[in-house]
Amino acid sequence: MTSLQLSARVAALQPSATLAMVARVKELQADGVEVLDLTAGEPDFGPPACAEAAAKEAIDANLGRYTAAAGLADLREAAADLATETTGLEWSSSQLLVTTGAKLGICQALMALVEEGDEVLFPVPCWTSYPEMVQLAGGVPVPVQCGENHLPKVDDLAAAASSRAKVLLINTPCNPTGAVYPRELLEEIGAWALEKRVALISDEIYAAMTYGGAKHVSPIAVLPELREQAVWVGGMSKAFAMTGWRMGFLGGPAPIISKIGALQSQLASSPPAISQHASIAALRGGAEDCLRMREAFEKRCVLVSDALSEMPGVECPRPQGAFYAFPGFGSFLGKTDSETGRPIHSGDDLAELLLEADRIALIGGSAFGKPDAVRISFATSEDVLKKALGRLAARLQKLS
Ligand code: PMP
Ligand code: GLU
Repeated sequence: MTSLQLSARVAALQPSATLAMVARVKELQADGVEVLDLTAGEPDFGPPACAEAAAKEAIDANLGRYTAAAGLADLREAAADLATETTGLEWSSSQLLVTTGAKLGICQALMALVEEGDEVLFPVPCWTSYPEMVQLAGGVPVPVQCGENHLPKVDDLAAAASSRAKVLLINTPCNPTGAVYPRELLEEIGAWALEKRVALISDEIYAAMTYGGAKHVSPIAVLPELREQAVWVGGMSKAFAMTGWRMGFLGGPAPIISKIGALQSQLASSPPAISQHASIAALRGGAEDCLRMREAFEKRCVLVSDALSEMPGVECPRPQGAFYAFPGFGSFLGKTDSETGRPIHSGDDLAELLLEADRIALIGGSAFGKPDAVRISFATSEDVLKKALGRLAARLQKLS
């Protein structure tokens, strides 16, 4: 028994459901159990070779030391170019901060913008970490339910917001749904945010991954005044397959970015040095690797959504971006699995059944704010996906 007392802030915190499931799969695999792993939002590819080479050179040159707190000047410049490419707006390095992963970047942005008790709105289904991050920053999470198409309505945002609404957190392409926000919707959202003086945090970490002709539109670029009250989020984890290198970026008005840099100097000293050198190389020379990975994801996206659309009772709008499908299993709730006798009351129950009975690992929808769904990550091989989808279809037929 410890006599240490946790702060209320941390006592209330939930661990990341995605990472918890990833860890569970790794444990099973370590015990020799074969699991078809559709959990992780983590590309199954390696980083661009030029990034690995640059990292090795940086180690040999003894560059693994603290850097400027805001990140290396060359990387801020390369990140500004990435932001320009992603948003279509001009950025300079004084408007860019290198962070220790986009995750910590979003936390820092929230800490910088949110006063105790301010509301932070976000469309749901959403990435599992958003509500917890908002609470850590002292904010009040305000989830706004999306429609069947996995997009929010501006009227619903307006209805959910009180006079304390401070920030709207938008993620396009979206984890977990794969939805890509169309320009017209973003214009409506932007006009509302401008009118209500609600700041935008625009999580565009999956911007390079869109499929089926869908085009990424940056939420902060649709109306000219918006960027003055917006923070852009990008990173190396997804498009460059560099998850463990922990490299993210924040872009915004220079005075705000400078202050978030001051916060970062107290929290992290500097982002990891070797990863920064690798990221410069990847941003300057890794474009072809990104395209190759995007093409593979597009093929998998078609494979997964075609297979799901052939399963009676499964609802799944075709993902247009990121690397997730988010099928709804509402019509199966209340049924029982004839083989194991297990009842299915939620997507989480289905995920448990699939793990125990079929050795397919995916993530129940409650972690993303939609309990009748499950998230399928297609950042894995076509072979694994085909096997898993076959087993899923067979399992659904045993539910009655
Ligand atoms: N935003 C979204 C929507 C994500 O899915 C992730 C995945 N981890 C992140 C941000 C953070 O990425 P990272 O911290 O690895 O840069
Ligand atoms: N974003 C990824 C996911 O949703 C990685 C894990 C995490 O940070 O949540 O699976």
